[in-house]
Amino acid sequence: MQKRALIVGLGIAGMSAAIGLREAGWTPVIIERAPRRRTGGYFVNLMPEGMDAAAGLGLDDLHTRDPLRGTTWVLNRRGHRRPALSWLDLPGRPTAMVRGDVEAALWGKVAALRQGEGGVEVRLATVPVEIVEGDDAVEVLLEDASSGIRHRESFGLVIGADGLRSTVRRLAFGPHERFMTSWNAMICAFPLPAQAPSFGAQDSLISARTGRAVWVFGLADRAPTALLTYCTKDIDAQFTGDRTERLRAVFHDMGHPAVRHVLDALPQAPDHLFDSVHQVKMDRWSTGRVVLTGDAAWCLNLFSGMGTTAALRGGAELGRALREHPDDLGAALAAWEAGLRPFVATHQRMARVKHQWFVPTNRVLAGVRALVMRLAGNARRSSTEARLLRAAAPAPDGV
Ligand SMILES: Cc1cc2nc3c(=O)[nH]c(=O)nc-3n(C[C@H](O)[C@H](O)[C@H](O)COP(=O)(O)OP(=O)(O)OC[C@H]3O[C@@H](n4cnc5c(N)ncnc54)[C@H](O)[C@@H]3O)c2cc1C
Repeated sequence: MQKRALIVGLGIAGMSAAIGLREAGWTPVIIERAPRRRTGGYFVNLMPEGMDAAAGLGLDDLHTRDPLRGTTWVLNRRGHRRPALSWLDLPGRPTAMVRGDVEAALWGKVAALRQGEGGVEVRLATVPVEIVEGDDAVEVLLEDASSGIRHRESFGLVIGADGLRSTVRRLAFGPHERFMTSWNAMICAFPLPAQAPSFGAQDSLISARTGRAVWVFGLADRAPTALLTYCTKDIDAQFTGDRTERLRAVFHDMGHPAVRHVLDALPQAPDHLFDSVHQVKMDRWSTGRVVLTGDAAWCLNLFSGMGTTAALRGGAELGRALREHPDDLGAALAAWEAGLRPFVATHQRMARVKHQWFVPTNRVLAGVRALVMRLAGNARRSSTEARLLRAAAPAPDGV
């Protein structure tokens, strides 16, 4: 069996798969549509399963940014603030970072694996145009995106790690509409140049109304990142006209100066992400010698808070399955999918619940959410005050 694999996409899923495959004795060739590797990015949290996968892939220098000196505040219409539960208080011990931190750690490992015979090859500005499955190999028509020059190459395995609107999925499985479910929601995510005035550098801020919300994620070692999200039934219309003006129109009446600070920062963030929210649901993640991983296969979406964890697990476990079934690709892919599917199915369901945490979609849920936030915030404040009082109290005699 030819053990040379094409991996489409230089994101978290693609680089994880390349490391996993290399360790299973395969020679990975990664192609990436963009002319250069992207850096930076928005806040992501990594769950323990993701940390374990990262350790399994040998990512020793993963930079984490838990905001240990920050408070999470809910902002109300009148410009007041009250402490609240943070995203990182949710069950499961999440760790905070930005997407670029995970990608930088993966890139460090991929760069080390590029050396020598059989090392990982990386080709930028390259896309797949056609995928034809043969008996012993997959023939792929590749295009150099800068020159338009095309050539054919054959691989023992093709891995689509090319994100939500995956070209590999479209070429090998069918049109996007068959697999992408719209959540009637939009997001805009970008790094802020500085924290909102009058807040601590690592504070997080939440301003939510029915159907729209602004989040600022405070982080250690860097300025916060912002996330704007709103519900809409007319997704196509959101991609027309001036984006900044559209977002101003949606959020301008939220009242708090911190929201204005976020909106004012948007025009200075040319690399901001603006997109619609979807989940990807497929009955199978592989067909013959073509397999999908990460958002291309199962996009859990940002509301799940599990996409990074799942993408890392996808690559790490694909490598393990190929090691355990070195001469039977079908058995390896079946074992990989059977191992991951329950995890993905659970978190696709959980994302619906977590969505309400990010942005309540109707008035009743908005009321329930506000009450939970208030109670949890009060409990949090009491425990913080008790801790401070204990720390300030004089030590008992003899201690
Ligand atoms: C705003 C936001 C917040 C998020 N927050 C969290 C969070 O808190 N926790 C969490 O776990 N997850 C979070 N996620 C999800 C997480 O970021 C993704 O699940 C994860 O990055 C997916 O990685 P991926 O490699 O599958 O896809 P992508 O990151 O989309 O990477 C795909 C790569 O493929 C390339 N590509 C695309 N098409 C082609 C082509 N035709 N040819 C060649 N290359 C191509 C792209 O340029 C890109 O480099 C968030 C997502 C968003 C948008």
